[in-house]
Parts: sequence; C-alpha cells; structure tokens
Amino acid sequence: MSTNSYLQLGTVEALVVRKPIKNLHLSVLPPNGWVRISAPERMKDDAIRTLIALRLPWIKKQQAKFAGQERQTKRDYVSGESHYLFGKRYRLELVYKNEVPTVILKGKNKLILQVRPKSPIAKRREVMLDWYRQELHKVVDGLIVKWQKKIGVQAKFWAIKRMKTRWGTCNHKRGRILINLELAKKPIACTEYVVVHELLHLIEKKHDDKFVALMTKYLPKWKSTKEELNRFILSYEEWKY
Ligand SMILES: [Zn+2]
Repeated sequence: MSTNSYLQLGTVEALVVRKPIKNLHLSVLPPNGWVRISAPERMKDDAIRTLIALRLPWIKKQQAKFAGQERQTKRDYVSGESHYLFGKRYRLELVYKNEVPTVILKGKNKLILQVRPKSPIAKRREVMLDWYRQELHKVVDGLIVKWQKKIGVQAKFWAIKRMKTRWGTCNHKRGRILINLELAKKPIACTEYVVVHELLHLIEKKHDDKFVALMTKYLPKWKSTKEELNRFILSYEEWKY
C-alpha cells in the first residue's frame, strides 16, 4: 500500500509517495522536471521538506537540463535533422513516394525516411517509431537469449514499450519484463545493461547488496554504463538518510 500527497517548497512542487521502504528516493522526472519522492511511511513532512531543501540546487539543475533536452528532442521529421540509432548519429532525409512507408540506412550516416506524399508529422513519427521498435526488438531478442542462458533464468514475457520514467521494468512475480523504446537511440551497451538488470530482478527483487553483487559478477562495468545512460533524458537519484 502507498499513499500520495503533495509538498510545496518555493517553486518546487513534489509528489510524495509513502511506502513501506527504508530510504528516501528523490526523482526528477521527464519531460517537465516534476519531482517525485518515495518516502518511508512514518517520515514526517518537516523531515521531507528539509531533505528537499538540501537537494534544491540539484533539483533545479536537473529541471534546467530537461528544459534544454526538450528543445533538443523536438523533431519535425524533415530533411537535415539528426536522429540516433544505437548511439550513432544519422542525418535524416525525407523522401515522399507513393509506396509502403519505410526507413532505410544509406551510406555512413544517412537515414532515409520514405513516406507517402503529404504525410503529416504524426505519420512520419509513427513510421520512425515503428522502425525503432523493430531495430530494438532484434537487439533485445538477441540479448535476452544470451543473458537468460548465462544467468540461468527465463522471463515468461518481454516487450518493448514507450515509458516516461523507466528504462526497464521487471514484474518479479509474473516474470514479465518491459524495455523502454527510447533505448533504440542509445549505445547497445546501455540496452545490455538494462536487460541484465531486469533479468537479475527475476532472481532478486530489490536493489540490495545481493543484487549489486550479481550485477558486478555479470557486468563488471555496469556502473559506468548506468552513468552513461543517465546522462540522457531519464534522471534519477537516491540516497540513504
Ligand atoms: Zn531495478
């Protein structure tokens, strides 16, 4: 069970979710820089306020980062834009053709988006997202096969999904894993980190010492990959109090 409330501190409004947990978690969420706090059930509002106040400079910094990224990530899907696949940058070329819409990589860094004449932005975005989904699906499929074998676990179900605040999720009970579509834009090592992380949740539900030890056993460099990943859009911080 969890209960929600709001706390206002100057211009910062935070959603406070009380849960049966030991540590306080603070997240600044995309796309608008909303603040979410997961707090232990018995922690007083004043104590939470004090902790938010201490973290205000960090919160403001994250919010400013989002504001900048929002501008950068606005896309019209027209020729000349930069788009990323697996960490590599491509230059988009929009081509109108009365054929089934498709995306083709050409040469070193050209990405051809081919749509029917007069296709609006929404349609162009849809074609791109479908393509991202297919490309990421192939990669994740390979990684899941590889890592299930290495770790000795089996997910009952996995899928790629558009998610706002998480790179991946694992439903420990149901053996169900979801991977964020946005990973198609990041280096494959990032996706591998997320896949291993979520598969390990099938063994260990929490991010406890045992979980960290398993991560280190299978992916010794997971910390730097995690940092690389979190330099991008989804930002997250937690600390013990
Ligand atoms: Zn996790």
